[in-house]
Amino acid sequence: MTHDKRMITGKTKLLGVIGYPVEHSLSPVMHNAAIAACSTGQSPIAHLGLDYVYVPWTIEPQNLEIAIQGFAAVGVVGFNVTIPHKEAILPLLSEISPIAKVVGAVNTVSRKDNKWIGTNTDVEGFLAPLRTTYNRDWSQTVAVILGNGGAARAVVAGCAQLGCAKILVIGRNAQKLEEFRKSWDNSLESKNLHIYQWDELPKIIPQANLIVNTTPIGMYPKVEESPLSAAEMANLPPQAIAYDLIYTPNPTKFLQQAQQVGVIAIDGLEMLVQQGAAALKIWLERDTVPVDVMRQAVRKHLGLTS
Ligand code: NAP
Repeated sequence: MTHDKRMITGKTKLLGVIGYPVEHSLSPVMHNAAIAACSTGQSPIAHLGLDYVYVPWTIEPQNLEIAIQGFAAVGVVGFNVTIPHKEAILPLLSEISPIAKVVGAVNTVSRKDNKWIGTNTDVEGFLAPLRTTYNRDWSQTVAVILGNGGAARAVVAGCAQLGCAKILVIGRNAQKLEEFRKSWDNSLESKNLHIYQWDELPKIIPQANLIVNTTPIGMYPKVEESPLSAAEMANLPPQAIAYDLIYTPNPTKFLQQAQQVGVIAIDGLEMLVQQGAAALKIWLERDTVPVDVMRQAVRKHLGLTS
C-alpha cells in the first residue's frame, strides 16, 4: 500500500463517507490510498498534486439533514453514502441521476453549482467484472438473484443493463418480495423480472446462467454457510457464473462450492473497488483514477495475498 506522507493544510479538500455505523467501512482505506498515489508520484496523474482527504463520518439518522447542511457550509466536495442513509438522503438532494432513481438509492453525492447531486455507482461496480473479464452475449442469460434487499436492487438494474433474458429474484419473505416486485412496476427493468420463494430454488437452478448472492449468508461469523447446497451448486448449467457480493471472507463457502463444480466464481471485492473508483472519478472530474492502487489497498487491509 502507498505510504501516505500527505500534509493536511488549509487548502486540503474534504471527501468522505457517511453511515451509522461507519467505523468498519473500507472506503477511507481505498480512497486515501488513491489520493496519496495521485499526489506522491505513484500514479500517472501524480503531477496533479491532488490535495484531498477522505474521512469517515458517523451520522445518526436524525442528524442527516443538519449534517448535509454542515457539509455545504464547510465546503465538502463529495461523499459516499452507506447504510442507513442510502434512501433517506434522496429528498435532501437537488438532483438525482437516472440510475439512482432506478435503484432507489444514492451511494455517491457531489457538490456542483452549490447543489448536492446524487448518483449510484453500485450498478457500475457490479457490472465491471461482467463487462470486462467475463464478458459474453447476455441476451440468452437467465440471471438468478438471491435476496431482495438494497444490493439486490443494484443487481437487478445491472442485469437489465446487460440485457439478460430473464431476471429471477428469490426471497424468503413473501410480503417484502411482493413489495420489491411492485417497486419495479412501469420500469424497463420490470419487463423480464420475476419473483420466487426460496423453496422454488431447486427447480430454477438448472436454468441459472448467472447466480448472484446478495444475502449476507456466508459472512462472519457464519462462514460455513452458503445459500446453496453442494447438490444445488452442482446443478448449475455449464459455463454458469456464481457471483457473491460478499468480499470477506474470501472466498466464501458459496464461491468455494462454485470452484469445486467448475463454474466461474466472482467475489464482491471488485464491485467494492469499482464503485469506489467510479465515485472518485466523479469528485475529481477525471476519466481515470488509480484503480490498481485502490484494489491493492483493500486487499492488503483484508489480509489477502496477491
Ligand atoms: P439488506 O438490504 O439487508 O438485504 C439482505 C437481503 O438478504 C434481504 O432480502 C434479506 O431478506 C436476505 N437475507 C438475509 N439473511 C437471509 C437468510 N438467512 N436467508 C435468506 N435470505 C436472507 O443488505 P444489502 O445492503 O442488500 O447487502 C447484502 C449483502 O451484499 C451484504 O453481505 C453486503 O456486504 C453485500 N454488499 C456488497 C457490496 C460490494 O460492493 N461488494 C455492495 C453492497 C452490498 P429479509 O428482507 O427477509 O431479511
